[in-house]
Amino acid sequence: MTDISRLRRFVSGMTDLADQSDGDEHAMVGGTKFLLTDLISKDDWLPDEYAVEGDTYRQYLLHCDPHQRFSIVSFVWGPGQTTPIHDHTVWGLIGMLRGAETGQRFDVANDGTLVPGQTDLLQPGDVDIVSPALGDIHKVSNAHDDKTSISIHVYGANIGAVDRHVYDPDTGAQKSFISGYSNTTVPNLWDLSGG
Ligand code: FE
Repeated sequence: MTDISRLRRFVSGMTDLADQSDGDEHAMVGGTKFLLTDLISKDDWLPDEYAVEGDTYRQYLLHCDPHQRFSIVSFVWGPGQTTPIHDHTVWGLIGMLRGAETGQRFDVANDGTLVPGQTDLLQPGDVDIVSPALGDIHKVSNAHDDKTSISIHVYGANIGAVDRHVYDPDTGAQKSFISGYSNTTVPNLWDLSGG
């Protein structure tokens, strides 16, 4: 049985943070890192419906701020699954909840081609940051060939509605995309009858 209260507290904390930060990215990223580290310190709260893998990686919306100042997503990778090379255009934090994932960063050369940068292996409890200021282009893969991996992402917008880009690995050519979400309903945070 999962206990959604940890996610409810996270949503409340993020809402307070967004109110206090007044659009300041540095404050949002720092505060989100603190709250997300606590959220993923225990893997007992994500409802099973938002942990189901599919033919390709899935992106489940867990909560979107009513003013679209931030969104919270569970990313679920089946064995060996990977994203295309993509950007976000807004800040984002990636908190590893279950399994492990590999993040490969890219820079854009003067001729528009992609130059591979740092590769990071995220283990449960680890948090990584992407943003246009710190490096925004990456490709993320399940580090396991034999099990599901799940990370919890927080972005500085309604990420499923943001117009962003995927990149051709050979030429660096950009293509616009809007990701949407894998789910049509979000978790119920507000049934308090269980105590
Ligand atoms: Fe990403």
